[in-house]
Amino acid sequence: MDLLYSPFKKIARFLKLDDYLIDDISIKVRDELNKGKFRQVPAEKTLIFLPHCLRHRDCPATLQKEGLNCTECGLCSIGVIKKKADPLGYKLYIVPGSSFVKKIVMENKFKAVIGVACHEDLSQMMMMLSDFCPQGVLLEKTGCFETKVNVKKVFEKIDSKY
Ligand code: SF4
Repeated sequence: MDLLYSPFKKIARFLKLDDYLIDDISIKVRDELNKGKFRQVPAEKTLIFLPHCLRHRDCPATLQKEGLNCTECGLCSIGVIKKKADPLGYKLYIVPGSSFVKKIVMENKFKAVIGVACHEDLSQMMMMLSDFCPQGVLLEKTGCFETKVNVKKVFEKIDSKY
């Protein structure tokens, strides 16, 4: 699948197809292929990556070396997801970009991952972490500022282990 991604992207562009079509297919296929294995990995061995663009414009959190330090202030969906994921044992990171993801991956022992991002970022992340049965949830509103995710879809991934 990794080998086919770039050629298919080029073909899709050449044919003037929807730029996200190949990412969409790639995300859905990986999701389906990894679902069974993902469910068997305990939450304690699973990382969740959320994009920091989900934060509210008045977010009081500060950026630390492992990403945004969410205080669960209630202004955005990050706090809602964190509140559910933390007590279950998931390790949740709110990251500004792939360099943070790479660093966190290097520093953690884990076996599975849930990613939330826009089409291209999510597709790339799932490709990069393909050995960790990745599950992905696409942003419903993109644009790098006050983006939106369907929290229910993230909860479905979180709850799929129970
Ligand atoms: S819930 Fe967390 S990330 Fe969202 S605005 Fe509040 S402190 Fe920031």
